[in-house]
Amino acid sequence: MRRFATHATHAPDTLDRTWDWRRRAACLGMDIDLFHPVGDTGPALAQLEEAKAVCRRCPVRGECLADVLRVESGWGATRREGIYGGLTSKERWELVRDRRRAAEGLAGRG
Ligand code: SF4
Repeated sequence: MRRFATHATHAPDTLDRTWDWRRRAACLGMDIDLFHPVGDTGPALAQLEEAKAVCRRCPVRGECLADVLRVESGWGATRREGIYGGLTSKERWELVRDRRRAAEGLAGRG
């Protein structure tokens, strides 16, 4: 089993930023593969739920989600991967899409 902190090996463009919140991550030292299930059906579904359970008890979930959304900003749906901030890549894409649509809706009313 590989022993990595999820965010220590991902989000490479943030290496020069503070790592303080990452030191408090619930996934620190866990097998990174848990957060990267292959697919979203069958055994992968159980793995996905296990990873999400770790995120639910993570004290820095908000920081994690904000960071990954910043890193993924401008990316299409297919480039995202893994579970960060308790959300799958698809759920993060939907969050970004919904926020964008809400902002466009508000702008349209102005
Ligand atoms: S929210 Fe999940 S992926 Fe993010 S730091 Fe916490 S445990 Fe790790």
